[in-house]
Amino acid sequence: MNAEKMQIVFATNNDHKLTEIRDMLGDSFKLLSLRDLNLEEDIPENEPSLEGNAMHKARHVYGILNMDVFADDTGLETDILNGLPGVHSARFAGEDKNSDENIDKLLGLMGSSENRKARFRTIIALILDGKEYLFEGVSEGTIMFERRGREGFGYDPVFVPSGCNLTYAEMPLDEKNKISHRARAFNKLKEFLFQYSQKDNKDRI
Ligand code: IMP
Repeated sequence: MNAEKMQIVFATNNDHKLTEIRDMLGDSFKLLSLRDLNLEEDIPENEPSLEGNAMHKARHVYGILNMDVFADDTGLETDILNGLPGVHSARFAGEDKNSDENIDKLLGLMGSSENRKARFRTIIALILDGKEYLFEGVSEGTIMFERRGREGFGYDPVFVPSGCNLTYAEMPLDEKNKISHRARAFNKLKEFLFQYSQKDNKDRI
C-alpha cells in the first residue's frame, strides 16, 4: 500500500454509495470504483449470508486486480419472518429488484402480526495487504403497517429506526446518513483505515 495516500478499490457500481463513502473518507484516501478500473461487471451475490456475499465480491475483485479492496452487502432482517428478507432483500419479490413489490411482499407476509421488530445490517468485507477483515453496521427498528414518506430507497418507507418517530423515507438523507446501518459500518471501516495508515507496525492491528 502507498503510505503517502492509501489507494483502495470500492467494489461497487453504485454511484450513490461511492459519493457517500468518498465524502466520509475525505482526502487521505484515493478511492477507486470498478468503473474507474474498467471493471463494470455485476458480481453475482449468491452466497447464503451478507458476510459471504460481501467477501465474495471483495475476493473476486482482489483476484483480478490484486489491489486493496472492500465490498458491502446489506439486508433487512425481521424477527417474525426468522430473518427474512435478509440476504434476499434486493430480489425478495423477483429478479427485477422492484422495491415496491418487495415492500408489498414483506407487508403481506407480516400481515397483522404485532411483532414488527427488524433491523438493517450492513457488512463490509475488506482485503488489505492480503488480509481479510469484516465490519458490521446495524440499525434496529420496526416495520410499519403502511408506507410513509418519499425519500430514500428500498424498504425506507416502512422502516422506523429505534428512537425515532419517522420512517427513513420521511427523513432528509443527511439525517438518515448520520444513523444508518451503512454509515455505522463505513465509520468502522474509516476508523480502521485511518489507524492502519498511521501504524508503523501494521501487524499489531
Ligand atoms: P445492497 O447490498 O446495498 O445492494 O442492498 C440490498 C437491498 O437491501 C437493496 O436492494 C434494498 O432493497 C435493501 N436496502 C439496503 N440498504 C437499504 C436502506 O438503507 N434502506 C432501505 N433499503 C435498503
